[in-house]
Amino acid sequence: MNDSTLTSGKIKLDWDAFKAEFGDIEIIDKPARVKKSSRDFFWYSPILERQLEDAYGDIVARPASQEQLGECLRIAYAWDMPCVIRGGGTGNYGQAVPLDGGLIIDMTRLDRIVEIGDDHIRVEAGAVIADVNRALHRHGRELPVFPSTQNIATVGGFIGGGSGGIGSFRHGPLAAPGIVPRLKVMSLEESPQLHVFDDADINIVHHAWGMNGVIYEATLQTVPRCDWINVIASFADYPTAFAAGMSIGGDRSLGAKLLSVLDARFAVYFTALGERIPCDRALMNSMVPRERLDRFRDLVESSGGSLDLALDEAETAAAEIPHVFEFSYNHTTLQALKADKSVTYLQVGAPLPLDVENIKTLHELLHDEVLMHHEFSVRDDGLAAWDIPVIRYTTEARLYEIIDIFRQHGCAIADPHQNNVEGGGMKNANFKHLAWKKRLDPKDLLNSGKSLLWPRVKDLPAEQIENLTRADLEPGAIA
Ligand SMILES: Cc1cc2nc3c(=O)[nH]c(=O)nc-3n(C[C@H](O)[C@H](O)[C@H](O)COP(=O)(O)OP(=O)(O)OC[C@H]3O[C@@H](n4cnc5c(N)ncnc54)[C@H](O)[C@@H]3O)c2cc1C
Repeated sequence: MNDSTLTSGKIKLDWDAFKAEFGDIEIIDKPARVKKSSRDFFWYSPILERQLEDAYGDIVARPASQEQLGECLRIAYAWDMPCVIRGGGTGNYGQAVPLDGGLIIDMTRLDRIVEIGDDHIRVEAGAVIADVNRALHRHGRELPVFPSTQNIATVGGFIGGGSGGIGSFRHGPLAAPGIVPRLKVMSLEESPQLHVFDDADINIVHHAWGMNGVIYEATLQTVPRCDWINVIASFADYPTAFAAGMSIGGDRSLGAKLLSVLDARFAVYFTALGERIPCDRALMNSMVPRERLDRFRDLVESSGGSLDLALDEAETAAAEIPHVFEFSYNHTTLQALKADKSVTYLQVGAPLPLDVENIKTLHELLHDEVLMHHEFSVRDDGLAAWDIPVIRYTTEARLYEIIDIFRQHGCAIADPHQNNVEGGGMKNANFKHLAWKKRLDPKDLLNSGKSLLWPRVKDLPAEQIENLTRADLEPGAIA
């Protein structure tokens, strides 16, 4: 016995004996590399940066087959080892940061494309999303929805930690029916088992932050590849850009894949675009089918705007500028943070039906501290919009006052400054997630500490957890 601690400093163990269990499976124990594999983009939040700065795992395992993945999970079970599943590490609420030390399973060697069908693709969960899209392009297809981080993010990480992205304007969120028809998920048990989730049941695992099983394989819907023109338009001010977004967004025949509007003050952060965009006008980003470009231009101009940039995929690459979607979703925050480390962000659902007057009021009220940026998307066949504003951060107290002001104006908040799944998901309690955590992770080893509710329900049988309701959350309702 040679008990000692490793990088996390949290687990005393005969680590040599533990490592010996892995046999042929690649493992990493060099502290610098383990530390790197314990990070994601939580540093977007000054609050999470403080909370998570010293949270690390101890050993990284890199399984390269279904059997090796099963073996890693068997070892974790046998040694009662906390275990975090990691894809590309682009999550932005510290989802993949180990709170209790232990094993990190890096999924990126499990990256095989298993099958490309007429309307679907089946892939191992560690496949990088851009590689999946590239493989589909060769078949004249593409993914309906993908995150702006597609060059690094994995399929399993997107399903485990993401919510939507490029394509949600046209096809809805990742959870919309049909986008992910099937998942194969491995349990963390004495003998890990594969479970199949179909159709709506994929939501049992979707956005569960890797707490209730390990996605091994995903079947994803595909759609015909489109000849996209990447466009940026500009408008005199933010309310005018938002109103244009509402009218352009209402025209479903346009077939656009992306529709974002941004406060004029973002332009100074978009240095990679140089003088291609004006520096003093609110912006609109979109991806429009080539045959609908004239219609898009007409809509922009009739809404008081001008089309400033229109490049197809080849022209975008030749111009050596980032793709237009790298100025959308949470890439917008990244562009701002590259220039100014003092800013942070929020995720704010605009009240429905969308109302430009509400946006105008908030824009004026919070003008000095908040740079608005809305992503339009389709939800239940209607138009929705999520604001991912950049915030000029002063104190935590002021950040939460700003959140309160948004709430007072009917907005929903998915708080990216909380390292728990309920906070990040608008205080939702997902009892199905938790019931399946009980079934697939009976020793509570997967991504421990990331659910506020789990400690309150973990001793109940899975069937009882599944039947809990929001009312059961009232203080004292659950023992
Ligand atoms: C600049 C930037 C832009 C972003 N844009 C978007 C966007 O457009 N849309 C969006 O939804 N998100 C976005 N995000 C968040 C993030 O990029 C996505 O959620 C991404 O898809 C995560 O993939 P990943 O492989 O990096 O996952 P990771 O960060 O590695 O993991 C995310 C979560 O999923 C779990 N997980 C990973 N793999 C598995 C698996 N195989 N089985 C079970 N659980 C697993 C992890 O434990 C973790 O809890 C953005 C983040 C940044 C920093």
